[in-house]
Amino acid sequence: VSVSRIRNFSIIAHIDHGKSTLADRLLQVTGTVEQRQMKEQFLDNMDLERERGITIKLQAARMNYQAQDGETYVLNLIDTPGHVDFSYEVSRSLVACEGALLVVDASQGVEAQTLANVYLALENDLEIIPVLNKIDLPGAEPERVIEEIEEVIGLDCSNAILASAKAGKGIDEILESIVRLIPPPQDTVDEPLRALIFDSYYDTYRGVIVYFRVVDGKVRKGDRVRLMISKKEYDIDELGVLSPNQIQLDELHAGEVGYFAAAIKAVEDARVGDTITLARQPAEEPLPGYTEAKPMVFCGLFPIDSDQYKDLRDALEKLKLSDAALSYEPETSSAMGFGFRCGFLGLLHMEIVQERLEREYNLDLIVTAPSVIYRVTTTVGEVFEIDNPNQLPPPGNRESIEEPYVRVEILTPEAYVGTLMELCQTRRGIFQDMKYFTPTRTNLIYEIPLAEMVTDFFDRMKSRSRGYASMEYHLLGYRQDNLVKLDLLVNGDPVDSLSTIVHRDKAYPVGRALTEKLKELIPRHQFKIPIQAAIGSKIIASEHIPALRKDVLAKCYGGDISRKKKLLQKQAKGKKRMKSIGTVDVPQEAFMAVLKLD
Ligand code: GDP
Ligand code: MG
Repeated sequence: VSVSRIRNFSIIAHIDHGKSTLADRLLQVTGTVEQRQMKEQFLDNMDLERERGITIKLQAARMNYQAQDGETYVLNLIDTPGHVDFSYEVSRSLVACEGALLVVDASQGVEAQTLANVYLALENDLEIIPVLNKIDLPGAEPERVIEEIEEVIGLDCSNAILASAKAGKGIDEILESIVRLIPPPQDTVDEPLRALIFDSYYDTYRGVIVYFRVVDGKVRKGDRVRLMISKKEYDIDELGVLSPNQIQLDELHAGEVGYFAAAIKAVEDARVGDTITLARQPAEEPLPGYTEAKPMVFCGLFPIDSDQYKDLRDALEKLKLSDAALSYEPETSSAMGFGFRCGFLGLLHMEIVQERLEREYNLDLIVTAPSVIYRVTTTVGEVFEIDNPNQLPPPGNRESIEEPYVRVEILTPEAYVGTLMELCQTRRGIFQDMKYFTPTRTNLIYEIPLAEMVTDFFDRMKSRSRGYASMEYHLLGYRQDNLVKLDLLVNGDPVDSLSTIVHRDKAYPVGRALTEKLKELIPRHQFKIPIQAAIGSKIIASEHIPALRKDVLAKCYGGDISRKKKLLQKQAKGKKRMKSIGTVDVPQEAFMAVLKLD
């Protein structure tokens, strides 16, 4: 096809505003996917999606559309991940487009992810077409929401489309607008090849499947290509487009979107954001803006049963093939034994990986509380980073500790401003700004230590605002503060995997709250168990768990034997998620206790 008849676009939306439904509808109306095929293919992953509040990507889809001007256009829909953890991938996907549909639920209005994604799209100079979705709902107020978009985002909505992805309303108008308003790619077919990797996945048989957009030049099956950042070279075995099933072709040129396979062993070797060029005739410069996705949140993963250590290692190795952002290295804990310290882009990423390890690899894991990377300067001027509180040098050997800060933007109805400001304040937030847009949209801006964010901030913001507030954050940099390591002792023994780094001002309340929480979470044993919090050798809080008064089986005396058996089975099941620390059985929840304090 001629470049002038290609349109590359993505759909940006806050979770649940109808991105997937609209994408499905576009595929259907353009005849790309038949209705029958549709159900099986695209609605599959809905459960996980709903549970997690994320949108699972369809990656990319090429549609043929005959417009009212009589011409047939190729529309490439490039999907973006819908969560802040993956904002780097969002911007890569957007770089591969010239325009975006901004989908806003007409009964809800602008949310934090709407805002963040629009800013990314504007930064990339994309043509934005506002789509007011769900106008079939009785509560839909498209006019109000249009005002809100103009007010909050400052986006001209004169060409906004009123639509219902569910009822199939406004779909033709959307397709026409894509053709009319979104500019075609530039025609740079004669320049040396440069193609941007915007996504990839690992296929057991063909190796990594790379999704890319050709920016300049052309690429053919059989070409030897070079990845300009990783400096690796591969021969393209298979090349094609996504329709959305893979359809093989011999050549793709500037402006087109497709996939290739080249027996690449791990997604790490073909990272999102890298530039592909021809080995025999390379471009001079890679496409701009490559940065590595860096893990921000760390936790320890330990098998409950130490026999599963090797299985855990194998599972992480396999997951890593398809997830370049995941990092892991062996960790030995005196309390937990052998496990791994794993790094993630954010909390959601962490949960997804944990869940996959348990669901797909059948592992029973104990997960320690999430932590961030601290930067430590020692008294002899050495600077290094730690991702585990236990790597902190003793107080006498360290000069300073710095921690990462993020800028958080919360969009909330005015009614919750007070309680959310209080939340930010208790998380050591520094107030920056408050912008009042409409009664339902106030923008609160804070700078908050990332460590305070990874401990359950999102859930608390949701519950304090009854689900109405939404947020986005990005990393600002490192700042020094008065931080100390808080240790927990169970039955007199320090439990390294319960140690955390906290601000000195919070050490006492956190120490008290933690010991109380552990008292609640650790079951009674035959003996009394002291629980203590300490900074260095100084005990700052203590509790104890009283000994069991009588045997749990005592109440079964005289009862029938099957009831007794049932009770024992129940106990055994409850024990599954326990780790023995010395003679004390500690449940999984205890290692996350620091998340459940206030
Ligand atoms: P996503 O998270 O942005 O991908 O949103 P989905 O496409 O998964 O849609 C979220 C929910 O809104 C689903 O239950 C859809 O059925 C529903 N939905 C999507 N579009 C419409 C619409 O136009 N009208 C109504 N009433 N519901 C819709
Ligand atoms: Mg979706």
